[in-house]
Amino acid sequence: MRQSKLLIPTLREVPAEADLKSHQLLLKAGFIRQLASGVYNFLPLGRRVLRKVETIVREEMDRIGAQEVQMPALQPAELWQTTGRWETMGNELMRLKDRHERDFALGATHEEVVTALVRDEVNSYKKLPFTLYQIQAKYRDEKRPRFGLLRGREFLMKDAYSFHEDFDSLDQTYEDIFNAYKRIFERCGLDFRAVIADSGEMGGKDTHEFMVLSEVGEDIIAYSNESDFAANIEMAPVKPSDEKSHEQPLEFEKVETPNVKTMQEVADYLGHTLAQGMKAIMFKVDDQYVMVVTRGDHEVNDVKLKNLYDANNVELATEEETRQLVGAGFGSLGPIHVPETVEVIADYAVKGLANATCGANEDGYHYKNVNSERDFNVKEYADIRFIQEGDPSPDGHGTIEFARGIEVGHVFKLGTKYADDLNATFLNKDGRAQTYVMGCYGIGVSRTLASIVEQYHDDRGMLWPTHLAPFKVHLINLNVKKDEQVELSDQLYQKLLDAGIDVLYDDRPERAGVKFNDSDLIGVPYRVVVGKRADEGYVEFKHRSTGEQTDVHMDDLISHLK
Ligand code: ATP
Ligand code: MG
Ligand code: MG
Ligand code: MG
Repeated sequence: MRQSKLLIPTLREVPAEADLKSHQLLLKAGFIRQLASGVYNFLPLGRRVLRKVETIVREEMDRIGAQEVQMPALQPAELWQTTGRWETMGNELMRLKDRHERDFALGATHEEVVTALVRDEVNSYKKLPFTLYQIQAKYRDEKRPRFGLLRGREFLMKDAYSFHEDFDSLDQTYEDIFNAYKRIFERCGLDFRAVIADSGEMGGKDTHEFMVLSEVGEDIIAYSNESDFAANIEMAPVKPSDEKSHEQPLEFEKVETPNVKTMQEVADYLGHTLAQGMKAIMFKVDDQYVMVVTRGDHEVNDVKLKNLYDANNVELATEEETRQLVGAGFGSLGPIHVPETVEVIADYAVKGLANATCGANEDGYHYKNVNSERDFNVKEYADIRFIQEGDPSPDGHGTIEFARGIEVGHVFKLGTKYADDLNATFLNKDGRAQTYVMGCYGIGVSRTLASIVEQYHDDRGMLWPTHLAPFKVHLINLNVKKDEQVELSDQLYQKLLDAGIDVLYDDRPERAGVKFNDSDLIGVPYRVVVGKRADEGYVEFKHRSTGEQTDVHMDDLISHLK
């Protein structure tokens, strides 16, 4: 395509609101434009890459026999009310009314719709198992839309739903999809891990997240340096509970040593009181309450305490205060999500106070492993334990390291929750009505695109892997005023098109510097520059990622690209 005609509004300056490389570069190189907070236009370059990611996803889903459908984004409230998620999704669910004042939601996910569809259209075991999927915009009114495409309010998701007679069948499909996801993220060139995750609000049992390893990730994962073991750190308490600890009630430490002023003293204090089982201790940090909960006869959670070290004026709440706070809902608090700074932990604790009873904070997130009934069973997890960096891996292979991750995919064994709620049954072999067993599987397609940029860029711009790049070749005519250069460029452009090679042709009347800058920014893998040697039929051939450069004769260009 001719760059002079294409909508590629590159920017000189990095937009102020963009902190992350993927956000900056996608805006700067004219791939995306924000319409509203967390809502983006995909311009031609962005759309082309998005389509390539979609194609990979689609090919791998089709390959395991999943069937593509498209379900409505506009969904009647009744469906969501039936499963209870009209309430539990909180503010994250985008809601609207039609002209008759009927409530609707914009699809944040499609369990309700797909379950109702299958309930109404399938009735025999003979069709089972099957998997439906779609690639479609999802709507979530995120509290803090940020990081560009990584956390949007409208974003592209591939969501899939499988339907089964029994759990064995679900296990098989789960494995197929798990492997398809691995292939998808490998084909996207991403450095990722599949990690054990928290089933949270979905109410399922087995669940894994696919995490792209990246410093800008919002999750922390613990993984073995020698094996495949990896867990979202919120799930890191993995030591199995033993029978005895099942009996242990949540116990609150009596506060008899309120004279703890520094973090060292806090650590010392916790150190000698932690031996006898589950403890919850409340601190005041800068006038806010922080609860440290530990369980079982193990060491204090260093990760969490380490983050408190910088705090001055650490003070234990009185027992009375602690009990009041516990009464207000803190009683069901488990280990608090590992925060990064003391401000964050204080923030979490205070927000937690306000929300502990309903379990969701104002972001619409819940505190993972926090709410006894939903996230874990206190008895079941009485001997919960946090893994530390350097610990032996629970599978016996290697030691644990921590890394940050971007959640690009998530697979769940849902079980019968949605089918039960929506009364979705089929006739089994014996002719009796039986509830579907289900799984659900998501991939953030637009988030995956941004993750690729996070992993493939340098100081000057993006570095697209060839099969994901918006174009394979960037043909640049350095000077549109020189006839021989225009002639050769036009000729090569036609030649590349004829050979079926995706080519972006910079035919703009711009200075060479501008063209090179834009080209580096856009990051097309091969650059062909028509310049001074045009009269001899020579062009400059350059690899964007390595900088490697040679002069190539026009007749050899196509074979050079094969
Ligand atoms: P997160 O923990 O990041 O909020 P989630 O667990 O709420 O994500 P899921 O419900 O598991 O997300 O949705 C499936 C996939 O959709 C996620 O794994 C992620 O890749 C993607 N996704 C979720 N929320 C967003 C968003 N706001 N913007 C872009 N992609 C998203
Ligand atoms: Mg979310
Ligand atoms: Mg998540
Ligand atoms: Mg998830």
